[in-house]
Amino acid sequence: MYEMSPEAIEVQNLIRRVAVERVSQRAAEIDKTGEYPQDMFDLLRELGIFTLPFPEEYGGQNSLLAGCVATEELGRVCYNTGYLLVVQWTPFGAIMAAGTKAQRDKYLPRLASGSLRAAFSITEPQSGSDVAGIKTTARMSNDGWHLSGAKIWCTNALVSDFIVLAAKTGEARGDINFFIVPTGAEGLQIGPKEDKLGARGVPSSPLFLDDVVLPADAILGEPGKGFKQVMSALALSRPIIGARAVGLAQGALDLAINFMRERQAFNQPLTDFQGLRWMLADMEMQIEAARGLVYKAAQMTDAGVRGKELAHSAAIAKAYASDIAMKVATDAVQIFGASGISNDFPINRYFRDAKVVQIIEGSNQIQRNIIAKNLIDGFD
Ligand SMILES: Cc1cc2nc3c(=O)[nH]c(=O)nc-3n(C[C@H](O)[C@H](O)[C@H](O)COP(=O)(O)OP(=O)(O)OC[C@H]3O[C@@H](n4cnc5c(N)ncnc54)[C@H](O)[C@@H]3O)c2cc1C
Repeated sequence: MYEMSPEAIEVQNLIRRVAVERVSQRAAEIDKTGEYPQDMFDLLRELGIFTLPFPEEYGGQNSLLAGCVATEELGRVCYNTGYLLVVQWTPFGAIMAAGTKAQRDKYLPRLASGSLRAAFSITEPQSGSDVAGIKTTARMSNDGWHLSGAKIWCTNALVSDFIVLAAKTGEARGDINFFIVPTGAEGLQIGPKEDKLGARGVPSSPLFLDDVVLPADAILGEPGKGFKQVMSALALSRPIIGARAVGLAQGALDLAINFMRERQAFNQPLTDFQGLRWMLADMEMQIEAARGLVYKAAQMTDAGVRGKELAHSAAIAKAYASDIAMKVATDAVQIFGASGISNDFPINRYFRDAKVVQIIEGSNQIQRNIIAKNLIDGFD
């Protein structure tokens, strides 16, 4: 079971207050316009919370639990603002995992402070879940690495300084490495942003790489090995994706309770109807269970648990939390009735954003594959 550290409780109190006072008012507009919330990025930078899960040398608390708590509190009022943390943390985690000391020193302090922004790109038109099926190539030549190919769904690329991007360094399926690609590199074209169902405030774009030349030290890890290092690092941060889902579900429940208090039917407030009261109770039970799984996986990471044992708990936390976020948001829309369909009420935003979390960062089918494989093959 998890236990909240005093530091995590401090983060929870701070971010909960900031979320209510400064973030919640912006949430609907960010979703509606789909414009990148620079003001929210500046706010997170001022608060210094980009560093939370990372080592003290980068000003952090070395606590994934604190990172989860911050993400949850922001996601409770604004999915897109919570997303700003996650898109900064993924490239940070990749460089931490596979970067040389020189690469870490060059990029990590500035990513942690928010003076640099980055994106992370694996997905291609023909391969999403099948990450080893990518086709973008990286070939070494006298003047450095030459990258060519096409990517899709690269979130944050349009506002980033660089992209941590996967490309094939050899012919075998697993011969993949990540490269640090400046967004201004010659031959790199960042396409227009997707018009999305959810997660609308942080842009996702296709990328086109036409013989992008990078210096020899742009590669993360040894050729053919860096990919595995980075993918293992992603399992470490997976609880954060679960935390976004828990925050989203909690926010949907908050809204449903308020609506039931105010709305009357048959001369009674909705809070009098047992059928709806039981829906609230179910939502609460599911959220509590998901929060427990997410915090447990985060604390396993903080305690140094690694390998299959961590991957198993992280997959359970991500898949369960995002499945219940979808369920809770769907039930909340039902409680709102027609108002749940109207864009004048915030609840349908939660419903749309919840769907995204079931698909990203390893879809929930892929998480189930991880869980089932461990059950059948064992943990040795
Ligand atoms: C808002 C958003 C932001 C994103 N941001 C990024 C980003 O920044 N960087 C990036 O690289 N990518 C990003 N992605 C892409 C995302 O990672 C992929 O969409 C995801 O991995 C799924 O891949 P796919 O869409 O190609 O689906 P597919 O892999 O084609 O899968 C289609 C369906 O089949 C299921 N499926 C696939 N394989 C299996 C299997 N073996 N067993 C059972 N079911 C299976 C999937 O779960 C899914 O339901 C983003 C996507 C979204 C929606």
